[in-house]
Amino acid sequence: MRIGIISDIHSNLEALRSVLADLKEKSVDRLVCLGDVVGYGPQPNACVELVRDFADDAVLGNHDAGAIGKTPVQQFNPYARIAIQWTREVLTPENYRFLSELPMMVILDDGTFVHASPGHPEEWEYLTECHGAKPEFDAFRTHLCFIGHSHVPVAFCREKNRVWRVRDQQLLIQEEIRYIINAGSVGQPRDGDPRACYGIYDTRTAQFEYFRVPYDIARTQMEMREAGLPDFLIRRLAVGR
Ligand code: ZN
Repeated sequence: MRIGIISDIHSNLEALRSVLADLKEKSVDRLVCLGDVVGYGPQPNACVELVRDFADDAVLGNHDAGAIGKTPVQQFNPYARIAIQWTREVLTPENYRFLSELPMMVILDDGTFVHASPGHPEEWEYLTECHGAKPEFDAFRTHLCFIGHSHVPVAFCREKNRVWRVRDQQLLIQEEIRYIINAGSVGQPRDGDPRACYGIYDTRTAQFEYFRVPYDIARTQMEMREAGLPDFLIRRLAVGR
């Protein structure tokens, strides 16, 4: 089975469209969305609708939770808060309901799928360092765990007591190693590469691969300006930070 994995779309319709077109070309059997469909960007409704139509599974992200009032807006930085409040005003009742019904976690084949961390998904912790990732390996039973949240494509590997991180574009999944893989961000990459990021996990060949897709950044920025979203959020898309 080939599983497409998309995360942190953040209401960036141009980025999501480009990724879905790329996925179509690469043909996957299933598409999983790791959450944060909304927040930051200008097209929350269109993005939720595409996820509703194309993703087979989706989990809740912290910005989705903020937009539907499940996570208090005080927990977000000022820029994110403005975007969440704006999102809340424009979300249609159907899309609001879709986000409200998203689970925190999905298990599929040999993978656990969660937005932030498998240990305490509702606490929205960031897994960026090996020492933070290490105890998380005891919190899921599958061979792999796929996460989003930090917007940085990176994999944590664990063999016995040793944990290390890899930034390779391709990973050959080894039997004796367990993995926590961050799928990167479709709509707001933060690793210095502004192109949209997503991953494909092929269970048959035991390979995971990241793909980067260019999209019309200027158009998303223009829509953000029209929506009156913060300038800082508009500018960061161009540099992928
Ligand atoms: Zn996010």
